[in-house]
Amino acid sequence: KHLKTYFPIKGTLFKGKAGLVKAVDDISFDVFKGETLGIVGESGSGKSTLGRTILRLTEPTDGEIIFEGNHLEHLGNRQLQNHRQHMQMVFQDPFASLNPRMRVEQLVGEPIAVQKILSKAERTKKVESLIEKVGLPKEALAKFPHEFSGGQRQRIGIARALSMNPKFIIADEPVSALDVSVQSQVLNLMLDLQEEFNLTYLFISHDLSVVKHISDRVGVMYLGRIVEIGPKHDIYNNPLHPYTQALLSAIPVVNFEKKREKIELSGEPPSPSDPPTGCAFHTRCPKAFDRCKVERPELIHIEIGQQVACHLYSQEDNKKFSNAESKV
Ligand code: SF4
Ligand code: MG
Repeated sequence: KHLKTYFPIKGTLFKGKAGLVKAVDDISFDVFKGETLGIVGESGSGKSTLGRTILRLTEPTDGEIIFEGNHLEHLGNRQLQNHRQHMQMVFQDPFASLNPRMRVEQLVGEPIAVQKILSKAERTKKVESLIEKVGLPKEALAKFPHEFSGGQRQRIGIARALSMNPKFIIADEPVSALDVSVQSQVLNLMLDLQEEFNLTYLFISHDLSVVKHISDRVGVMYLGRIVEIGPKHDIYNNPLHPYTQALLSAIPVVNFEKKREKIELSGEPPSPSDPPTGCAFHTRCPKAFDRCKVERPELIHIEIGQQVACHLYSQEDNKKFSNAESKV
């Protein structure tokens, strides 16, 4: 709730002020048990920082993180550890996140060994079963990470995350480094494991097709804010925010009758250290009007379950801005 993660830019003065990157800038949302919430946005939108902040791998500047009714934001290290075993992270580059000098048996069993809850025999049994669950042969246990393909390494990373019996997994671009054909295998594995182990996912990706495949609900990020969030079906079939509309217009559709006109966004995303005033999207938005430059839109409910942060949808307040109506 109202999560903020700001990073000072050391040693710089920006327009006379100390520089500050608002990587996560006042974000509130729920993740429901058993679902996959996809978070999508361009690079630099703050998605990874959001994921890391929820697990407190990065410290929040402000706001609340509530997991099964427990506030995590102020917990000390030891108390945090108790909750953290239920919350694991899967990273983009399995090679970088796996110690190259450890055999798979050690890699997957390490989190259990640290906790000292299982005997060595129990641990071995558990690791063997996990390796099987992620679709790797038993022989994999004695090998090193470099002996595997990217997709296999991601399977090892997932087995490692599962070793603590987590309830909630944050996956940050878990298939982005993989070939497209391998991507769907890993996504389908994640879906199978979700069902078997009753997992809840926060799935972060820049790739709208990947997010569509795996998510139940989708949140769209732009410059540290969620600009639209709702059920996948609504986001993909009836995008309300001009940014979501532009993102979706750029992905190829198979059904030509439903083909959307491609919306070209002008310019590059602005720097997160110097976001535009008002609606941060106004410098690129084809529907921007006067109000957008001065007032920041908050997320409001439009359809059931779908929320959007855009002034086009709060018409009452637009009356004082004369040129708004024609743009709706
Ligand atoms: Fe575009 Fe204005 Fe809506 Fe922002 S608030 S998305 S600038 S129309
Ligand atoms: Mg990232």
